[in-house]
Parts: sequence; structure tokens; C-alpha cells
Amino acid sequence: MTLHSLDPRAPWVISTHDLGRRPGSMRRISPVLPAPADLAVGMIGVPKDADVELDIRLEAVMEGVLVTGTAQAPLSGECSRCLDPLTSEIEVGFQELFFYSAEDAGEDDLLLDGELLDLEPIFRDAVVLALPLSPVCGEDCPGLCTECGVKLAEAGPDHRHERIDARWASLQGLVVDKKDDQEG
Ligand SMILES: [Zn+2]
Ligand SMILES: [Zn+2]
Repeated sequence: MTLHSLDPRAPWVISTHDLGRRPGSMRRISPVLPAPADLAVGMIGVPKDADVELDIRLEAVMEGVLVTGTAQAPLSGECSRCLDPLTSEIEVGFQELFFYSAEDAGEDDLLLDGELLDLEPIFRDAVVLALPLSPVCGEDCPGLCTECGVKLAEAGPDHRHERIDARWASLQGLVVDKKDDQEG
């Protein structure tokens, strides 16, 4: 349960004034909001200030305002296999009840601040849960060579390293020495 003063000018703060606390009254909004900062997990995230397209239904119920919606946001990050930069998109859905009164709300519930509610924490939670832990530039990305770190997509399927057994390595040395003797 969080109760803090919201800034009505903050982009993610929405007024529920139109609903008038009448159970059943409903409003649909589709704002495009700037992505909040630090919205990333590991190698991928939503760039700060990127356009987030929301489609939200605000519905007054007895205890508060039910917020149901979807958000679409661009992603940018790195491929976890080949480390190339990658861009993608994410769509998340969420539903959250903002309570009018702390008396009705439980420990982890959200509260309205007067007629205001803050969409940012519910968007943030939904995105963090949906972000891929190991983003890839393509499902078939072969990644990097574990021996030399070269990008396998560029090195080609024949890229490999000769593994020479230590005993053979010394024999090779003998052959080379012999050749040197002949030349010298
Ligand atoms: Zn890749
Ligand atoms: Zn290699």
C-alpha cells in the first residue's frame, strides 16, 4: 500500500475526475506517454522517453477505480549470443484496482490520491515481468566462437580451430626441425 502525493502534471498521472465515483461509470483513453527512465532488465529495456502507446479502460467500482489496459513500447538492447545491438517491441497487459480508501486496501494495494492515479508503477511491473532474460537478434543466431570470440554468423559454418594433441604437437616440431636441417 503506497500513499504519496502525485504530481498532476506528471505524464503518467491520470485524473479519474470524469468517473465521479459512480460505480459502473467508465472511460477509455489511449494516451502516448514517454517511457520512464531505468526500465531495463539485463541486456534489454525500453529506452527512456520512447513512445509508449497505451489503451486503457478506467472503470469505477465500489471500492475504487479498476484500470485495465495494454501498452506497446519499443525495446532496445543487445543480443545475448552475438552481442549485436537489437531493437524489438513489447506489448504488455495489466489490470489493477486503485482503492479510494486505505481502510479497504491491503498491504500491497494501490491507492488513489484524491482523483489521481499513477499508471507508471503498473506499466513498469508489467514490462519487467515480460522482458526476455536472454534476448536474441534471431532465433537461429549462432553466437560467438567460444575459442576466439569471432561472430559465427560472419565466420561461416566451417569456422573451427584445430585442436592438436600435445604428443602430435611435439612430433610436428620434429618434422619442422628436420626440414630446417635439410635447408640449412
Ligand atoms: Zn545474435
Ligand atoms: Zn574461433
